Amino acid sequence: MFGDRLGRVRAALVDSGVDAALLSVGPDLPWLIGYEAMPLERLTMLVVPAEGTPTLVIPAFEVPRVVAHPDLFQVEGWGETDDPVERVAGKVASASSLAIGDHTWSTFLVALQKRLPSPTWVNAGSVVGPLRAVKDDKEIAALQRAASGVDVVAAALQAGEIPLIGRTEAAVSAEIGERVIAEGHAKVNFAIVASGVNAASPHHEAGQKIIEPGEVVLCDFGGVTIEPHGEPGYCSDITRCVYTGEPPAEFSEAFAVLQTAQSKGVAAATVGALAQSVDAAARNHMADANLDQWFLHRLGHGIGVEAHEDPYLVQGNEAPLVSGNAFSIEPGFYIEGKWGARIEDIVVATGDGPLALNRVDHSLAVVEA
Ligand code: ZN
Ligand code: ZN
Ligand code: ZN
Repeated sequence: MFGDRLGRVRAALVDSGVDAALLSVGPDLPWLIGYEAMPLERLTMLVVPAEGTPTLVIPAFEVPRVVAHPDLFQVEGWGETDDPVERVAGKVASASSLAIGDHTWSTFLVALQKRLPSPTWVNAGSVVGPLRAVKDDKEIAALQRAASGVDVVAAALQAGEIPLIGRTEAAVSAEIGERVIAEGHAKVNFAIVASGVNAASPHHEAGQKIIEPGEVVLCDFGGVTIEPHGEPGYCSDITRCVYTGEPPAEFSEAFAVLQTAQSKGVAAATVGALAQSVDAAARNHMADANLDQWFLHRLGHGIGVEAHEDPYLVQGNEAPLVSGNAFSIEPGFYIEGKWGARIEDIVVATGDGPLALNRVDHSLAVVEA
């Protein structure tokens, strides 16, 4: 797995005329070698030359945390009085073009640029992103496990097993998080609980507002799966809405439009479809009911070891979907001072058509608890 990925990154470096990739904190390293760098002031950096053996430059005392693959990369520990930037610079001294990991701290990039003034620098995302965006069967299986886990939590929400009325959004968010962990996740990335007028803010932070009867409660949550030691986890991300009591007709009607728009988005996500045309398929249906003016964000984002990654389903992205792309389909409407709603599934583009990984009911559940 890691050998194949390193080979594809090297080939992509050659194709784009880049001499080496320098990858630090963030999701590239776990995806590429199964090691996640501590986001700390001590530098961890994998040097991947287009030709030759990669080297992981890492604080010496972190070496035991690395699952070694001596056939794939060398591990070089540095001591507390060593200069790790000098070590990295020495390995790429003759490079004329370098790719730097998108999440690398600017302090390290600036230090590297002082030692290496001549190379041109590109974002490693432009090299690694398109590779990470195409999932293999094992990755799709991990994304399916992630999705099935949060489906269980969403079903509990819809069944009224997670009490809402009289509790704070923060308390419900904490309970959702605990349930996400109980369903096979190593950690929770986020658990948005937005009730009533708060649902009009797409990324509302669950707070001290008490959930009242007669409100929409928008819940958007996800985490990262548990995988064997030395393998990266994969992300889940789902949104479902419930109503505390019978919803008014105005809301039910808008929600029905949203539900159809979401399923049209899923159906449009076929191999070869342009990313922007998938967005349009959902948005145009919202427009038929004059709801598109409240649909404030793109239709979806790719997902994998990172919660948001390539491909982005957004107007202006003319890239065609390829088999193995995994992404969210998440239309919403957000009416300030009033209410909002969103429905989100993770979907994989396959040769047999779009495969929705989340299967829990999409309709607006009425919860009386
Ligand atoms: Zn979001
Ligand atoms: Zn989400
Ligand atoms: Zn999402």
